Amino acid sequence: MLGAEGEGFTIAMHSLDKGRVSVAAGCTGIIQGCLESVVTYSQERKQFGRPLASFQMILDMIAQISVDADAARLLTWRAADLTERGEPFGTEASKAKYFASEAAVKAANLALSAFGGYGYVDEYPVQKYMRDARVMTLYEGTSQIQKLLIGRAETGISAFL
Ligand SMILES: Cc1cc2nc3c(=O)[nH]c(=O)nc-3n(C[C@H](O)[C@H](O)[C@H](O)COP(=O)(O)OP(=O)(O)OC[C@H]3O[C@@H](n4cnc5c(N)ncnc54)[C@H](O)[C@@H]3O)c2cc1C
Repeated sequence: MLGAEGEGFTIAMHSLDKGRVSVAAGCTGIIQGCLESVVTYSQERKQFGRPLASFQMILDMIAQISVDADAARLLTWRAADLTERGEPFGTEASKAKYFASEAAVKAANLALSAFGGYGYVDEYPVQKYMRDARVMTLYEGTSQIQKLLIGRAETGISAFL
């Protein structure tokens, strides 16, 4: 028998916490990939005789992705740092996983928009970022479950039965 009798669920749930930091790290990579793809493409692609990057709405997309990449990275580093130091990190892992996975979906969506039709076809990696990102909000605990955990940590009151 692994662990004490009756402790199995708690042990299993703790094992998910580290997985959530890994998912957050993967999502940070997706967001960074979206950023680099859009930056390069918007510098190269010209419409109306100007690079896409000279259009304000394209810069708005790039700015959103850039800030989210930094925020996801910093939340992930915090959770990873606590893990390495052997301190409690469950709530920080939930925050990192929740933010980074939702931000990865947003970044992939924005990147797809910035690429126009080329964002949808498999000539560029953007369509893959969208598929890769969407599942991240589901496994290792859905975004809804992360919010229940974060809310419980803030209030001390559990929505779980
Ligand atoms: C590609 C992929 C790989 C996977 N790999 C693994 C794996 O390796 N190991 C593993 O164990 N699992 C794995 N899973 C399963 C994954 O962890 C579950 O799909 C995920 O936790 C959601 O559970 P569910 O599908 O049963 O959805 P459900 O629990 O049925 O949830 C459906 C909806 O209800 C919401 N919901 C459920 N309960 C509550 C609640 N109490 N309060 C509020 N909302 C709630 C959810 O947020 C969701 O929106 C994988 C899933 C996918 C898609």
